Amino acid sequence: GSVFANVVQAPEDPILGVTVAYNKDPSRMKVNLGVGAYRTEEGKPLVLNVVRRAEQMLVNNPSRVKEYLPITGLADFNKLSAKLIFGADSPAIQENRVVTVQCLSGTGSLRVGGEFLAKHYHERTIYIPQPTWGNHTKVFMLAGLSVKTYRYYDPTTRGLNFKGLLEDLSMAPSGAIVLLHACAHNPTGVDPTVGQWEQMRLLIRSKGLLPFFDSAYQGFASGSLDADAQSVRMFAADGGECLTAQSYAKNMGLYGERVGALSIVCKYADVAVRVESQLKLVIRPMYSNPPIHGASIVATILKDKEMYYEWTVELKAMANRIINMRQQLFDALRARGTPGDWTHIIKQIGMFTFTGLNKEQVAFMTQEYHVYLTSDGRISMAGLNSKTVPHLADAIHAAVT
Ligand code: PLP
Repeated sequence: GSVFANVVQAPEDPILGVTVAYNKDPSRMKVNLGVGAYRTEEGKPLVLNVVRRAEQMLVNNPSRVKEYLPITGLADFNKLSAKLIFGADSPAIQENRVVTVQCLSGTGSLRVGGEFLAKHYHERTIYIPQPTWGNHTKVFMLAGLSVKTYRYYDPTTRGLNFKGLLEDLSMAPSGAIVLLHACAHNPTGVDPTVGQWEQMRLLIRSKGLLPFFDSAYQGFASGSLDADAQSVRMFAADGGECLTAQSYAKNMGLYGERVGALSIVCKYADVAVRVESQLKLVIRPMYSNPPIHGASIVATILKDKEMYYEWTVELKAMANRIINMRQQLFDALRARGTPGDWTHIIKQIGMFTFTGLNKEQVAFMTQEYHVYLTSDGRISMAGLNSKTVPHLADAIHAAVT
């Protein structure tokens, strides 16, 4: 017999499992609104034109080799990534207080940051919003942190539970780590206002909590890279410390290239040097050093004025298509007279709408309409197009009536 005979079958990942089920469905009406990946109006994956151009330039450059990168990744990429999230004129960057390491997309950045904190930070508890991206709990638990939650979403208003959030963060032990979605909160699509961010910042700083930003959607939420980085920049501007995990999966469509960055803003430049030395000790035994291709694409685009501009145009087009899908879905439900208040569809931002549909309604929509979404009622707006909106509206209408 096999030495692994006692290994039990693990359940599918709750998000990626939706696609597994979708792929098995022979129906021609099927729609996949599970996974958070952008699709065009034709329902196809999109490689940005500027990314194709950058790749061509890289391929045609004969001096380009495939040597190992340093443990911390491509130096240009790291500098440009820090500028992108903190702003070109960030004092923290100018004062050499920011250490940035290239990591395996957003997930890898969160994991490296988590492992660093578990080893070198005195308070090993991280507070994550309730609800949050499903992988957060596992990433931080396996990194060695103790995971607790703070109230975030209010199902009755389908908006922010700001009072609950403030109460829970004020009860957190001093020094605790707080995971914050920089923008376009996943799965709820609900973000604090600038005024609310400012109140959170005051509380977090006065209690000595350590903010850890997850920035997986910069530019993808509003269409503006600067507007979507505002929360992070408010915290970086006050001179305090924070961590940021950046992903280029969505905003450059580099999902499978696994390109991202972890930045740690420190109070003093000499601390940043020592922090970097310890990040290397986290990374080296984990995967040695990161892959070169995706980071080279990003660096090529970010350092060229004209390519950077083309990127912002393509990014804005993606964001706008999603915003347009929100309006279309909202209008379609209105037209059907579907009972309930659906204004949250146009109020929420980013890739997802948290519909408020329950598990049974989701199961019904999948069974009867071949519409695939996560059981918490989250739909990926990026997976919708003008042709599938009426079908989804029919499915929602049938599920709630
Ligand atoms: N964080 C959030 C909130 C996300 O939604 C995602 C992707 O869906 C990620 C992090 C990580 O994505 P990736 O590892 O593909 O960059």
